[in-house]
Amino acid sequence: MKQVVNTDIAIIGGGIAGLWLLNRLRQLNYGAVLLESDTLGGGQSHKAQGIIHGGMKYALQGVLTPATQAIADMPEVWNACLSGKGLIDLQQVPVLSTKQYLWAPGSLTAKLAGFFAGLALKGNVEALDKKDYPSVFQHAAFKGQVYSLDEIVLDVNVLLRTLAMPYQEIIYKVDAFHDTHTQFDDKNHLTYFQANATPLPAVEIKAQKYIFVAGEGNEVILKQLKHPVLNMQRRPLQMVMMKANFTYPLYAHCMGLGATPRMTITSHIAHDGKMVWYMGGQISEEGVNRSPHEQIQIAKNELQELFPWLDFSAAEFATFFVNRAEPLQPDGKRPDSFFIKNIENTMIAWPTKLAFAPKLAEEIIQLLAEENITPKANDLYALRAFPMPTFAKPIWDQLL
Ligand SMILES: Cc1cc2nc3c(=O)[nH]c(=O)nc-3n(C[C@H](O)[C@H](O)[C@H](O)COP(=O)(O)OP(=O)(O)OC[C@H]3O[C@@H](n4cnc5c(N)ncnc54)[C@H](O)[C@@H]3O)c2cc1C
Repeated sequence: MKQVVNTDIAIIGGGIAGLWLLNRLRQLNYGAVLLESDTLGGGQSHKAQGIIHGGMKYALQGVLTPATQAIADMPEVWNACLSGKGLIDLQQVPVLSTKQYLWAPGSLTAKLAGFFAGLALKGNVEALDKKDYPSVFQHAAFKGQVYSLDEIVLDVNVLLRTLAMPYQEIIYKVDAFHDTHTQFDDKNHLTYFQANATPLPAVEIKAQKYIFVAGEGNEVILKQLKHPVLNMQRRPLQMVMMKANFTYPLYAHCMGLGATPRMTITSHIAHDGKMVWYMGGQISEEGVNRSPHEQIQIAKNELQELFPWLDFSAAEFATFFVNRAEPLQPDGKRPDSFFIKNIENTMIAWPTKLAFAPKLAEEIIQLLAEENITPKANDLYALRAFPMPTFAKPIWDQLL
């Protein structure tokens, strides 16, 4: 007999976007199911540095860009959740740092003084007294000035678990899609959606809305949709990790002369208790055409130049490539904000930043209300034998 489940909303993708949305929909009594084809958070989400940007990073050329304005209120939304007064209770999620720091190496400090003064005037950026510098800069050899930004850094791995744990019974591991698993009519209405967890019998998922928040995985559906303008872009990075033989927690953007920070460092504790510096920014964008060996060499040189008083000779290094998946932009650059396309009974969405996940979910809920999609059904019995996906391991514990 054909196995069928009936629900209000089928969420495809268990990264930050899908997990946040699942929480919000269940709070509003929508019937919902989340399908994940790999590990929870194991796409981009668990590779995020966990910075809840307030947009200053995007204003580094001294002008307030549309990207700055779009993201400006996100720290407040997240802070409310972290203090138990927001849309989702995140009191269990560790805040790794209440500030993100900004600094320029000694040789650039004078050149960038005017630029930093301009940022300070806009608020949120504050020049620090030496006694308040992060510990790594409390060294006589450090000649620069450190500023602080009101941007928190979260433990993303705990965040993902916190969002998934209350809803384990409606999160299922499925096989990745195959063209035959979905059917659209000529108006792009999804007429058939099948979930598979080989070797179990296939289950048809009937939902009022199918929401694809599958990151790079959204591309498979886009190909079937044949939408005239909707396409996906990938912006690749080669991130670097260094496991240190010292303990200097650092959450900071190192400024160079360009608009992207020369290096953005966050700090995490690996399973063996050692500290990991996780490095993105310009080094990871420019590193996409380098071999891992070259990228590590460049990272070592950069670190030695920026922190000549530290000894990196015993540190372990690793790199990995990852794509940021987003809606295609005419210039191929970063979209200013999150993205949702509502097509018949399907939505395709990308948060484009972890920080935007709350805003993305609220916008989706608003769109559902506008279409009069209200809570009706949640009969998931036919999925009872489907397994739950595991959580992705922190990326440094996979590679270092
Ligand atoms: C290195 C790096 C650092 C970052 N740092 C930050 C930061 O500090 N702050 C910030 O705000 N943002 C940051 N970002 C951006 C942020 O990580 C992403 O915008 C966000 O995680 C995307 O979430 P998502 O849920 O859309 O996608 P993903 O996390 O990629 O999740 C998609 C999920 O869908 C699943 N999937 C794919 N295909 C299918 C299928 N067919 N069926 C079922 N499931 C499927 C995948 O397995 C995956 O689990 C960073 C990104 C990168 C790459």
